Amino acid sequence: MLYTMKDLLAVALENKFAVPAFNICSYDMMKAIMEEAEVQNAPVILEIHPDEIAYLNNEFVAAVREYAHNSSVPVVIHMDHGGTIKDVMRAIRNGYTSVMIDASAQSYEDNSAITKQVVDLAHSVNVSVEAELGTIGNNGSAEGGSANIIYTDPDQAETFVRETGIDTLAVAIGTAHGLYPKNMTPKLNIELLKELNKRIEIPFVLHGGSGNPDSEVSEAVKYGVAKVNLSSDLKSVFFDALREILTENPYMLEPGDVFPEANEKVKAVVRHKMAVLQTIGKADLY
Ligand SMILES: [Zn+2]
Repeated sequence: MLYTMKDLLAVALENKFAVPAFNICSYDMMKAIMEEAEVQNAPVILEIHPDEIAYLNNEFVAAVREYAHNSSVPVVIHMDHGGTIKDVMRAIRNGYTSVMIDASAQSYEDNSAITKQVVDLAHSVNVSVEAELGTIGNNGSAEGGSANIIYTDPDQAETFVRETGIDTLAVAIGTAHGLYPKNMTPKLNIELLKELNKRIEIPFVLHGGSGNPDSEVSEAVKYGVAKVNLSSDLKSVFFDALREILTENPYMLEPGDVFPEANEKVKAVVRHKMAVLQTIGKADLY
């Protein structure tokens, strides 16, 4: 079943669980995620970054939509970190049910103005909108981010949500994109999240969810986080497994031999994240 983000996350927020949003950079990875979501009877968000669609091409989304339509679990197809109106229009044309416009690096006024414009366009065709206020950190990933994390300001966030009419807000509470260096332990500002949750009714999105301690991420779900973005955690196990199997078997050629082990690694991460976010079995609520 294909859902909009607004409808998907309303149920999550009400029932205090979160839905993982996995970046899908290949057909095999998408297939593994969907198979595991169905086994776990769990809703899932498949997200595609503009860099990923630049590689995969528009036709890939037709396959993703077909998977979503034929699936027994609720699925949202979401554009991750759209930077321009063109990115947004391409996603809408391709049939995504949710888009993110990320103008968080711009001034507050410009961020608010472009986000409002995207909301007007997307809502007119029943597509949900996520925007970001404050900046997520960056550990050298394609999703970008800022060298210095600027925490989301609660006053500004309240105004931003009211002015723009967005459906979900990406909050900056101390996470960073990419994998954290070994000597760095990320720390979430739960007090700030509590304050935001008191003032704002729409669901929050946690970006850069890879590598944060499970206990902190579960804690965040209690205070309005209903979507957690995960990219590096999946890509790292998928490509590590492929690297390993192809190194060990230099003459292996058939996809049915090459991919299954990598897909199993992806499934294990999906299962684990769904357990942390309490998503397992929640498809029954839709
Ligand atoms: Zn992100």
